[in-house]
Amino acid sequence: MIQNEIKVFCPATIANISCGFDVLGLALGSVGDEMVIRKTELPGIVITRITGQDLPLEAQKNVAGVAGLAMLESLNYQGGFELEIHKKIKAGSGIGSSAASASGVVWGINQLLGEPCTEEQLVRFAMEGEKLASGTPHADNVAPAIYGGITLVRSSDPLDVVRIHCPSELYASVVHPHIEIKTADSRKILRTSISLADGIRQWGNLGALIAGFYKEDYALISRSLEDHIIEPIRSILIPGFDEIKQQALAAGALGCGISGSGPSIFSLSKGEETAQNAARAMSDVLSKLDLEHDAYVSGINTEGIKLITGKGVSP
Ligand code: ADP
Repeated sequence: MIQNEIKVFCPATIANISCGFDVLGLALGSVGDEMVIRKTELPGIVITRITGQDLPLEAQKNVAGVAGLAMLESLNYQGGFELEIHKKIKAGSGIGSSAASASGVVWGINQLLGEPCTEEQLVRFAMEGEKLASGTPHADNVAPAIYGGITLVRSSDPLDVVRIHCPSELYASVVHPHIEIKTADSRKILRTSISLADGIRQWGNLGALIAGFYKEDYALISRSLEDHIIEPIRSILIPGFDEIKQQALAAGALGCGISGSGPSIFSLSKGEETAQNAARAMSDVLSKLDLEHDAYVSGINTEGIKLITGKGVSP
């Protein structure tokens, strides 16, 4: 049976993971958008509906449209696709809202066309969408969304994405205070150079964090979840950050930091119960500050984007 429409789950993602600024990312299991992708005769991408948020319907102004068009152009595909985007991840939340749309559309089109593209090609198309959102074509959110699990972007040009082993008992807690920080803005406040001593400390932590993931050594993961370069600067934009971090660690989390460019804050824990305790502790701080927020606990989503209904088979 030929089906021309599918519905996909597009996961939220945590980029950076403390010491992995611009290179590390992981996909969440229980938080994400949904997207319906439909094959049409008309060429190009038409966004027919967006629910959950006020975002541009015009394809050229929506990351999903831009990523989809980049893919169609590269494939020299003559037909087109209609999209419905059901947003659950708020734009500018720091948990990969734009990445979910940019990667969901290209993954979905690939399914409907009988999988002509590799995951690496899909990441490249999705990066074009990210360029629209933040000004730079970064892959640290779209790579985990498409590959699933934890990924390391060794290089974005030429693109080289490495899948990283995910420890079986690793859980993430995320709080999203309802203030908006645009990736482009939170990039502007960063210094463009660092000292050698800072570099040494950061790559020591990053190497050890990756080793910790492979060895499932939670104590090593905990020691390595440190970012003394970006976090001290970006955290100024997030009310209560230091207290939230302190409380997450006191509740047993392995580490805590800014998710992507913020304002969401993540912590990683061994086991779901500890992750729940950490989420509660983080959420309590925001409640005391009278800051509206969402709180999530999720396992690591090793599958990435997945089909909800329908299966595309090219005619
Ligand atoms: P996040 O880290 O949450 O993705 P960004 O600042 O990187 O936040 O991206 C959000 C920006 O991208 C907003 O300016 C938003 O208007 C724009 N945007 C365009 N299309 C979409 C989309 N489909 N989903 C989310 N954001 C979008």
